[in-house]
Amino acid sequence: MRILKYPFSFLHHYRTWMAEESLDADRMRRLQERKLDMMLKAARETRHYRRLVPGNLDGEGFLSDTTCLPITEKKYLRDAPETFVSGGRDVRTLGFAQTSGSTGLPTRIYLDADVAWYRQAVRYATDVSFGRSPFDLLARVHAHDYDRGSLMETKVLFPKVFLPISNPPEENFRMLIKRKPAMLRGYPSTLSILARLNDAAGRPLRFKSVVSVAELLSDDTRKAIGDSFSCPVYTDYGSMEMSSIARECGEHSLHVDSHACMVEIVGRDGKPVRGGEGDVVVTQMFSSVMPILRFRIGDRARWGRECACGRQTPVLEGFMGRKDDYIVLPSGRVRSGKNFYLELSLLSHFFEYQIVQEEPGRIVFRHVPVGGRLPDAVRAKIKEHIISQCLGERMDVEFEQVARVPRGRTGKLRVVSSKVPLHDAV
Ligand SMILES: [Zn+2]
Repeated sequence: MRILKYPFSFLHHYRTWMAEESLDADRMRRLQERKLDMMLKAARETRHYRRLVPGNLDGEGFLSDTTCLPITEKKYLRDAPETFVSGGRDVRTLGFAQTSGSTGLPTRIYLDADVAWYRQAVRYATDVSFGRSPFDLLARVHAHDYDRGSLMETKVLFPKVFLPISNPPEENFRMLIKRKPAMLRGYPSTLSILARLNDAAGRPLRFKSVVSVAELLSDDTRKAIGDSFSCPVYTDYGSMEMSSIARECGEHSLHVDSHACMVEIVGRDGKPVRGGEGDVVVTQMFSSVMPILRFRIGDRARWGRECACGRQTPVLEGFMGRKDDYIVLPSGRVRSGKNFYLELSLLSHFFEYQIVQEEPGRIVFRHVPVGGRLPDAVRAKIKEHIISQCLGERMDVEFEQVARVPRGRTGKLRVVSSKVPLHDAV
């Protein structure tokens, strides 16, 4: 049955996705209203939202004032995912996807076969938007091989090679040389190491495109990766809970997938902010099995200007990374981690690096240098760069050369982090 249904479900979702993504602003709003009607109806049949969603609220009303619903925090979903399941479905009869659990505890997202096909189709549709053609081999460097499709998908139509992030980078590089994929997907910290290895080998690897996911991609890292692999580098912004949220177009603007989710940027009071930075809050519009409304995803961003590419969907920009990527200055002032990222000329000296504030007045710069040892002049420049970002406040900078920068369970590298608790964030 699964095999028979497969081509139809997959093709249906794929074609719908492609047709809806380029709707003009008016049609998109009407589509959102219709889809939100469905989500609100499903939400009323969950234990979590039953009392929170007003009985007379429809998609149009929700879109005109989203604050009529409270924000859904990550912990609600993590601690009791079954309370988000709609219509009294027995969770034992459902499949699930699981987040990688960067906080140490994974979150379970329940789905039925149709939602599973939807997510699968969206993965392919997004790759196609980054230049993938059928039969093109895709390489994915990731902690988990989550995309286990049928034989037809993974071997014939959309073949892929999975490279575990836990492998030594040299081994993954050798595999890429051997398999010669058309596209590469992964975390920027991993892509950077592969780009360095490619540079050292005389750039034998070239791709149609490279897709960066999950971690913040700085402009300089993007350039280093793109130069090495002679191709454009795109950001794909999504999450296990929400599937695809936003993707870069040819102009490298990060457009919201407005036909699949509704994105807000909210201030501390949970109200949308027009200008300036805020928390990214997402309402998904594809799964009535487990509706998730106004979900605070844990990233910070702001709204960007309209894009020249022709797509009329809103643009996200100014990604400041995870909310917990920051440095606390001795005075208590907080600096976003993004300010501390290395620029291109310094970046080229490292396979990888990490900046950790161990205590209020001390930052440790962990690094794996290209060439075995960091030249004194580079060391001085890095110290100068870090101190310049501390706005005149006192900060000691220590250097620690390591064989590999440690990663969490998810394989993601936190480039900037602090062990100083955040008391009064400014
Ligand atoms: Zn655009």
